[in-house]
Amino acid sequence: ILILAIESSCDETAAAVVKNGREVLSNVISSQIELHKLYGGVVPEIASRKHIEKINQVIEEALTEAEVTLDDIDAIGVTYGPGLVGALLVGVAEAKAIAYAKKIPLVGVHHIEGHISANYIENKELEPPFLCLVVSGGHTHLVCVKDYGDYEILGRTRDDAAGEAFDKVARAIGLGYPGGPKIDKLSKEGNADAIVFPKAHIEDSPYDFSFSGVKSSVLNYINGCQMKGIEYNRADIAASFQKAVTDVLVENAMHAVQEYGLKKFAIAGGVASNSTLRAAMKNACEENGIEFYYPSPIFCTDNAAMIGVAAYYEYLAGTRHGWDLNAVPNLKLGER
Ligand code: ATP
Ligand code: MG
Ligand code: FE
Repeated sequence: ILILAIESSCDETAAAVVKNGREVLSNVISSQIELHKLYGGVVPEIASRKHIEKINQVIEEALTEAEVTLDDIDAIGVTYGPGLVGALLVGVAEAKAIAYAKKIPLVGVHHIEGHISANYIENKELEPPFLCLVVSGGHTHLVCVKDYGDYEILGRTRDDAAGEAFDKVARAIGLGYPGGPKIDKLSKEGNADAIVFPKAHIEDSPYDFSFSGVKSSVLNYINGCQMKGIEYNRADIAASFQKAVTDVLVENAMHAVQEYGLKKFAIAGGVASNSTLRAAMKNACEENGIEFYYPSPIFCTDNAAMIGVAAYYEYLAGTRHGWDLNAVPNLKLGER
């Protein structure tokens, strides 16, 4: 089964060809980051327009790189939520047009199901059940992956997503957008024990997260330094903030994996490419005798290969969408 997958939920226009759910024949990503940098974040209106400009070219490239034509494709997979409505609509309309013209099935995919499924690409032996920590720009979910397409959300953030916290702190210390990779890099020159930022644990909800407190605490620290006329060390702030976030993610994830008696643990989403988080999770899993899985960084941030993988398992499960498929900006995981 060959699937052409399309992803346009945020600021990446992406297309990929995936064979039998595990083999990525091509993975083309056109990022709009340089454009949105000018504004310090993603501007929805600009994102949709850029998607329209790029999508045909990106699909052409994905087909060419995979050395196939549309006639070889068995189904179209597309992200239809969650995300920016205008951005999603570009991918959904394109997917419908191709599926209709070629008379092949249309399979709508949940973006976070895509992020989770990225783990199947390089870990051919990975199968559910496993626990997955999704840490992206808009989500922080601890998900029990019971089976392909069968998810139970054990915990989630009460406020900011992990990636959002990285981006906001990065902006506060003048690193620019997107901040996650920049904090990752700068933190290597800093001391993670220099400043103690709070680690939020939520009473009675051991798998939930909260990152607004640590973010505020960083802002207060910076303001305090400025008022006292003290120069603060940006690398120390980056390293200490990153440690506070990482520690909570590791603690809650290990707690859940044990409580649910799972033997496998995976991470997903843009923040899953963070080197400190990857190292800390690897250690914790080793200590607890748990198999640890993680995608290469290129499959952590937004891409269409992960959508192709998720679409394949949805396709096998019989998911087919009609020509009335619409973008659903707040789509819930597990909804069809
Ligand atoms: P969502 O998937 O929730 O809809 P999104 O698609 O915008 O949100 P992703 O593309 O999965 O998010 O990830 C982008 C986020 O990942 C950004 O917040 C970015 O700062 C963060 N990120 C990327 N690389 C790193 C890194 N090395 N360390 C920390 N954060 C990172
Ligand atoms: Mg993005
Ligand atoms: Fe994403």
